[in-house]
Amino acid sequence: FLGRAIPIKDTNEDVIQWIGTCTDINEFKQFQQQKDNFLGIASHELKTPLTSLKLYSQYLEKNLRKQDDNNNADVAKKMDDQINKLTALVNDLLDVTKIQNGKILLNKSDFNFDELVNEIITEQQMSTSHRIYLEAENIGNIYGDRHRISQVMSNLISNAIKYSPSSDKIQITTKLTEEGCVLFSVRDYGIGIPEDKKDKVFEQYYRVSGSKEHTFPGLGLGLYISSEIIQRSGGRIFVNSVEGKGSDFCFEIPKADNPH
Ligand code: ADP
Repeated sequence: FLGRAIPIKDTNEDVIQWIGTCTDINEFKQFQQQKDNFLGIASHELKTPLTSLKLYSQYLEKNLRKQDDNNNADVAKKMDDQINKLTALVNDLLDVTKIQNGKILLNKSDFNFDELVNEIITEQQMSTSHRIYLEAENIGNIYGDRHRISQVMSNLISNAIKYSPSSDKIQITTKLTEEGCVLFSVRDYGIGIPEDKKDKVFEQYYRVSGSKEHTFPGLGLGLYISSEIIQRSGGRIFVNSVEGKGSDFCFEIPKADNPH
């Protein structure tokens, strides 16, 4: 049961009465549970055919290139790019169900942070005409979940690219903070975020409603998943942004193991 109490005040703003309501939320919870289960099963089932499709499209491209049929090979490559996008969406849905079931566990180890940053930038640069610049401090090894941290980096960079359609510069900065944390920041010069929406962008399914001239594809899950990963890594994620000027998304995580 969910209880709510509403105060009734007189003209002097003194409370003279309380009105209480009691709502049975069992049905609502069951509905939520069914929705989460469905999401989990559906995204899991979608993964198998997607994996096969990816193998077929890559096989097709390779063979067409061998036969010098580059036009059709380019079509196969486009197919592969779309399959990658679909796979990323399905992975986001799977991650959300994992978060809801408390099953998003971090697999921590020592890894070289600088190498990971370079790897992610090279990968992202291959699929965009935006120019990605890096200003990096030498950070060396950190203790964390390499795969999940790379997921957050990719998410922030691909958002910076997506939400800056008329500016092609992306600036990435890495630093060691005085508190012994690693700071990773992605600065874009795109559409920016209105002041009152800045905290909301980390909420599940939240998307700033698009202006008329721009509509951007997405489910509103990337930042929610990223913030879960960063929080579970003992860090914090935040954004500085000016609407119409651009955004600076940052995360900070401890370099060494978090005692908590
Ligand atoms: P998606 O991009 O799929 O909508 P995200 O969770 O990654 O989901 O982002 C949530 C929302 O935050 C986006 O819909 C967008 O409105 C806003 N946003 C995220 N990154 C940026 C950015 N770099 N610049 C402007 N707005 C952004």
